[in-house]
Amino acid sequence: TGINFDKYDDIPVEVSGENVVPEIMSFETSGMDKILLRNVALSGYRKPTPVQRHAIPTVMAGRDLMSCAQTGSGKTAAFVLPVLHQMLLMGGPAPPPSSSGVGGISSRSRCSYPTYLILAPTRELASQIFSECRKFCYGTSIRAAVIYGGSENTREQLRAVENQVDIVVATPGRLLDFIDRGRIHLANVRFLTLDEADRMLDMGFEPQIRQIVENCDMPAAGQRQTLMFSATFPREIQRLASDFLHDYIFLAVGRVGS
Ligand code: ADP
Ligand code: MG
Repeated sequence: TGINFDKYDDIPVEVSGENVVPEIMSFETSGMDKILLRNVALSGYRKPTPVQRHAIPTVMAGRDLMSCAQTGSGKTAAFVLPVLHQMLLMGGPAPPPSSSGVGGISSRSRCSYPTYLILAPTRELASQIFSECRKFCYGTSIRAAVIYGGSENTREQLRAVENQVDIVVATPGRLLDFIDRGRIHLANVRFLTLDEADRMLDMGFEPQIRQIVENCDMPAAGQRQTLMFSATFPREIQRLASDFLHDYIFLAVGRVGS
């Protein structure tokens, strides 16, 4: 696969925040669920990248995370694996909020209440994250779907969320559209990831992102764990981080521009 470990092994890593979580030296000793370890091995990953060594234990410990790392450093697995681990610990996917007593609405509601929401700027990125999710979910009962705008397959995407999915990977505009249509409800979101946050802001998605995060702020879901990833760390990203993250760990791998 596409990682050049020679290039990464002596890359500078900066970790800061309250009670930093110790890094892992291997996947096997990370304490991660056995099904996930098997899927990691099936993917041909032999050892974690620097961002994975730090992010995986941090996220497994339930901490919020702001991470800056360059493209190709293995960020997707760094957030997907530890969230899947926690979803499996929670006893698999959470059921949608009970609608019993309202005449079995849930069976006819044709919508999803995801536990994990991942936002990405483009169709290509969302699709890549989705296929990594599917790969790592193999052999579990966790279901994922991807939705993005600018395509002719709206019907197909609507069908994909008709029966409860636990992970939704989405571009911001299309997600808001599906929320408006009542096809996706964010009341159960326990885990939220903003991938390539700087690109999402460059593309003008800040109002949409803020609206989505407001939709996630439902007491029913309890405490939410939020993870932000960005190549750069300019003022606007710092502001989002302080608005969305709680007592977070900051992790920078390599040189980070602003
Ligand atoms: P980023 O989001 O940081 O750009 P990706 O998550 O897309 O990076 O990973 C880049 C490539 O490296 C992908 O093909 C991915 O499957 C692969 N990869 C990720 N982590 C590892 C690892 N620990 N060992 C080998 N390959 C990996
Ligand atoms: Mg990426």
